[in-house]
Amino acid sequence: MTDRKRRVLIAGGGIGGLTAAVALGRHGHPVSVLERSAFGDETGAGIQLGPNATRALSTLGVLEAIEPAAFKPESIRLFDGLSGKQLASVPLGAQAEMRYGAPYLTLHRADLQAALLAACKTLRTVDLEPDFEVVNLRQNERRVVAVNVGGGELEGECLIGADGLWSTVRRLIAPQARLQFAGATASRALLSRDGLPSPFDAATVGLWLGPRAHLVHYPVRGGKQLNIVAVTHGGAERQGWDQSSDPSAILSQFETWCGAAKDVLQRANGWRSWSLYRLPPLRGWHDGRIALMGDAAHPVLPYLAQGAALAIEDAVTLAAALDSQSGNPEAALSRYAASRHGRATRAQRLSHRFGQIYHLSGLLRLARNFVLERQSKEKGLKRFDWLYGFRALPD
Ligand SMILES: Cc1cc2nc3c(=O)[nH]c(=O)nc-3n(C[C@H](O)[C@H](O)[C@H](O)COP(=O)(O)OP(=O)(O)OC[C@H]3O[C@@H](n4cnc5c(N)ncnc54)[C@H](O)[C@@H]3O)c2cc1C
Repeated sequence: MTDRKRRVLIAGGGIGGLTAAVALGRHGHPVSVLERSAFGDETGAGIQLGPNATRALSTLGVLEAIEPAAFKPESIRLFDGLSGKQLASVPLGAQAEMRYGAPYLTLHRADLQAALLAACKTLRTVDLEPDFEVVNLRQNERRVVAVNVGGGELEGECLIGADGLWSTVRRLIAPQARLQFAGATASRALLSRDGLPSPFDAATVGLWLGPRAHLVHYPVRGGKQLNIVAVTHGGAERQGWDQSSDPSAILSQFETWCGAAKDVLQRANGWRSWSLYRLPPLRGWHDGRIALMGDAAHPVLPYLAQGAALAIEDAVTLAAALDSQSGNPEAALSRYAASRHGRATRAQRLSHRFGQIYHLSGLLRLARNFVLERQSKEKGLKRFDWLYGFRALPD
């Protein structure tokens, strides 16, 4: 069997695509990552990686590379955004690491992307193809051909669509699928952690819940900076992760919030935003020799902080399936899709539900707070065992 026949094409060199390239490359599979940009995009801000993701990265040797730039929060603290009262605290840090055998980390997206890119560059069998925007695909019973916007072509044994939320590969293999604007906008900013008041100076993830909006913040860049994200109802349908954002429009949505929350919002500048989208679960993620992964297959709203983690899990599972059924990529892709679909759909649904709970108002808000205040720390973490305890590969 020649290299050309075994080559796996990956459309999209984001977090999922690069993780899949590392996982396949470590098994000696020839891989080409087709990325429309020049790789190394610094755009973005914070990413949270639950133990389910860090365990998978550890099997690829990437966890050690990101740890210096990452932060290990001690807990997730939940606050009521209007009163400023702490409602609950879910332990992370050593307790989560002991429970799940892997750490909960927060870091800048660009640091994760850079570590994955560096790992790809150490692998002889991984080719990085910048400026390759996949606009069309052809497949027959032996191969797949990817067509670049400029007209060039590359062929491989199969193709993985890791081209994110606005996936072209999804449009080509599942043209009926339609992204739906979720009616909300996320805005992000980075602040220095020097001199921040309590509780924003704490070594924790902070989650502030309020009517039609919430705030989340956590340290990144090894603890030097605080990433803050404000999610508010409304906004326009806009494509892309890096839209300009008007700080006064963001602040106006938090007018009725407590002083501490308004203060930290005022300190932040350089806000960028992105519109939130949902995709009703797809019936299948593959068509012959082409399969989807990550946001292309199952975008998750940010309320569960699992977008990057699920893409990483997909990548590891996909590589293992292709490795164990080498020579039969259609069967491998089918097995991968079948094994991941239920879990990803559960996360999509739960994330949507969390968003509804975060943004409750009136009596329902008070009822939510009542329940959260009575929840034990142990129960707080236990309900996430199915999520964080997941092993993409057996130990
Ligand atoms: C620039 C950027 C900034 C982001 N910022 C944040 C953030 O601040 N906070 C957050 O929580 N999440 C952010 N995300 C989303 C988050 O990284 C993803 O939701 C998650 O990691 C899932 O990974 P993925 O591999 O499925 O998709 P992504 O990581 O989004 O990667 C998709 C990749 O495919 C490439 N691509 C798209 N179309 C094509 C095509 N036709 N041909 C070739 N390549 C293509 C894109 O350039 C991108 O590199 C950002 C994503 C991007 C691309």
